[in-house]
Amino acid sequence: MPDDNTVSLKRHEYANNLQVCRICLESDKVEHLISPCHCKGSIKYVHPHCMAGWRKTLSETGRESDLYHCQLCKQRLYIKQKRLLMALLQFRRKQLDSLQQQQRAIQLTLIY
Ligand SMILES: [Zn+2]
Ligand SMILES: [Zn+2]
Repeated sequence: MPDDNTVSLKRHEYANNLQVCRICLESDKVEHLISPCHCKGSIKYVHPHCMAGWRKTLSETGRESDLYHCQLCKQRLYIKQKRLLMALLQFRRKQLDSLQQQQRAIQLTLIY
């Protein structure tokens, strides 16, 4: 079955300056998305809140060193939006107490 709907939908999105968030895979206006690294094309954009959630997941799994680098292009994540940076910092502060406890437990069980 030909997938004409998908193709025309993508054209429509492009025409309206919409891009897809690579984390939640939903399309949104480019001005609502950020491109924090050197990834190109369809994986270039993420929502700030999706990125915060992704970083939360990394924190919870103890992979905190991954917080600052893209897993795909290995570039250091570049966050120029001050608002996002503040949100992430506040988020980190909020998480810190439980995170420190988790990390202590993780450090005991993991050997790098
Ligand atoms: Zn998203
Ligand atoms: Zn990347």
